[in-house]
Amino acid sequence: MAKNSTKEKIKVSGNGTTIDGALKFNSGWDYSPAPESTGHIEIKEKYELFINGKFQKPVKGKYFPTHNPANEKKLSMIAEASVSDVDKAVKAARTAYNKVWSKIGLKERGKYIYRIARAMQEKAREFAVIETLDGGKAIRESRDIDIPLAAAHFFYYAGWADKLQYAFPGKDPQSLGVAGQIIPWNFPLLMAAWKIAPALAAGNTVIIKSAESTPLTLLKLAEVIQESGLPEGVVNIISGAGETGAAIVNHPDINKIAFTGSTGVGKIIQKAIAGTDKKVTLELGGKAANIIMDDAPIDQAVEGIINGIYFNQGHVCCAGSRLFVQEDVADLVIRKLKDRMETLIVGDPMDKNTDIGAINSKEQLNTINKYIKIGKSEGAGFYQSSCELPSKGYWCRPTLFLNVSQSHRISKEEIFGPVLAVQTFRTVEEVIEKANNTPYGLSAGVWTDKGAKIFNITSKLRAGVIWANTYNKFDPSSPFGGYKESGFGREGGLQGLGPYLNLK
Ligand code: NAP
Ligand code: MG
Repeated sequence: MAKNSTKEKIKVSGNGTTIDGALKFNSGWDYSPAPESTGHIEIKEKYELFINGKFQKPVKGKYFPTHNPANEKKLSMIAEASVSDVDKAVKAARTAYNKVWSKIGLKERGKYIYRIARAMQEKAREFAVIETLDGGKAIRESRDIDIPLAAAHFFYYAGWADKLQYAFPGKDPQSLGVAGQIIPWNFPLLMAAWKIAPALAAGNTVIIKSAESTPLTLLKLAEVIQESGLPEGVVNIISGAGETGAAIVNHPDINKIAFTGSTGVGKIIQKAIAGTDKKVTLELGGKAANIIMDDAPIDQAVEGIINGIYFNQGHVCCAGSRLFVQEDVADLVIRKLKDRMETLIVGDPMDKNTDIGAINSKEQLNTINKYIKIGKSEGAGFYQSSCELPSKGYWCRPTLFLNVSQSHRISKEEIFGPVLAVQTFRTVEEVIEKANNTPYGLSAGVWTDKGAKIFNITSKLRAGVIWANTYNKFDPSSPFGGYKESGFGREGGLQGLGPYLNLK
């Protein structure tokens, strides 16, 4: 697909030589490098905390570095918020809630959110480049998915700000107060948009913490918010690690916690707020089943499998990390899958041809490599694409494990990397049982020619989001969220607005 669309850029390479950042196909065809420029962005040497509409130094004066995982170079130093900084931010959010945001006209509220959405669109290229530099994802994804979707969430929720009584007919929707929000590193700006936009539209004020390895796009958002003239204290953006997150969770003057991250931390948060009147939504881990029936359009399904697990280096909570293929098409699907894996371009995330960028951090790469070792020692069939990897930075080749069984750890535990565990099945009943045999329940996919099979299977899968004949598709109007250990509550759509309101 990509080959055809950029035909004029491809050149034949005799021996397929590669240098760091250059791109290679094992077929001997190379793309010329097409790096996105960085001339239009500014990354400061040091960033402060965005509290009460101003950039403020952290009380304890501590800073931590953020790196580019594609070359291990330091990008900037970031303020680390302590308990005192969190307290300052919550006080600012409370004052802004009491004095301004809960009293402001609903149309005015909407106007500010629209203004932020438009500014995000105007600065989309800057956001995309910064997201890719800080997190390692391919520029094509941050440019075409993360940033447009983040802006779309602000546009979508801006529209609801003055229509809350229509959103919940027969109810009297009331805002909650101050929302404390904590996000992970896999979709930094998008996760922030999922949380900030509905909170503001519902009339709440916000304190949000970015993940330690990807703070930069939220700091850029802080600049956009400052320029938008949003009343000070309505959105407070802080940075730090787990302790900063815990300080938000434990602050007594927060009314609602919204968390996206691992199931382990989700459990800590739920324990911490038990017995308080804080509301909470938890968007946690996943181990999604992607199911290929024998009547599925195989080529499209193979694209769906690739998109399901290798998109964003597999750093996706809803990644289709367990592949179930009906036995009579298994050989064909695996052969086509391997062929397609060979064409995936792994390398410089800033190159517009790159499919798979850098693993977000050294720690995450270690985790992925640990699971690859486990999969091999468990006896699953191992296959990796043959691409070369740059010498600096954190990288993982697209990886397959074949003949996996239900008891293998690689089919049970979230790996959060480009590693697919393949199992086969014979009947619909068998695959439903196998797919549901997991503590998670975030997402799933089904590929078949028959609508009746889609309805049958999707009604029996215990997952919050199920795609049919597609995968990893998102829209601001569609709710997203899990069952079981994947958390509870929904983000997106009206279902994502409700948790920020008292609906009497
Ligand atoms: P994580 O370790 O749980 O961290 C998530 C966020 O929580 C980070 O900002 C982290 O700070 C902070 N944190 C760490 N310990 C904390 C504590 N004790 N109290 C409060 N906050 C704390 O998860 P991750 O490794 O960054 O992200 C990957 C996970 O997120 C995966 O399991 C994935 O499935 C899940 N995820 C779920 C969804 C969904 O919608 N369901 C979406 C995306 C990701 P630091 O980063 O500074 O440590
Ligand atoms: Mg970083």
